[in-house]
Amino acid sequence: MTRMCHSSSRCASILCEACCWRYSLRIARRIQAHDPRQLHSLQITAPLADPSQFGQLRKSIHNAFCYRRRQCRWWSRVGIWGWWNGIGLRGLVELGSITATEFVSALQRQGAFRLLPIATETVRAEVYAAAMSVPASIRADGTGRYQPFKIAIEPVIVTTRSLPIPDSIGMMPMLLPD
Ligand SMILES: [Zn+2]
Repeated sequence: MTRMCHSSSRCASILCEACCWRYSLRIARRIQAHDPRQLHSLQITAPLADPSQFGQLRKSIHNAFCYRRRQCRWWSRVGIWGWWNGIGLRGLVELGSITATEFVSALQRQGAFRLLPIATETVRAEVYAAAMSVPASIRADGTGRYQPFKIAIEPVIVTTRSLPIPDSIGMMPMLLPD
């Protein structure tokens, strides 16, 4: 199935273990780049596990994140990286400042959850295992990319904000009596 794959010429197939290992390094670096807090391995077992429903699952998770992020700023630091594994989603979640219970209750409509704390050093192995869990049957007829079987919502890096206050300050003299 897999084409010849050498260090000089990578096949880039998502069926290839060597290429998946390289891919997992790229993803792991993205996850580790911002000093992740409360990393967990994640398994969501979807009630209706069918590859064609993955798009719906992904959309629901995106919507839930958008909703929560509008409600609560702590959700900006929550990230999720998951791959369709035939029965749902397998991957990682960074909880930041929210609890596992809060995370699960926000997304519980998506299926049954299993969250286990993991160490930062194991991120690459977790990514690799999750990416390799995409069933070979659907990987084979894919385009060679993980995109159709993957969800990634990264944490928003919050920088110390210098508020754009000149406007309100500029208006103040007008409100003051002479
Ligand atoms: Zn390869």
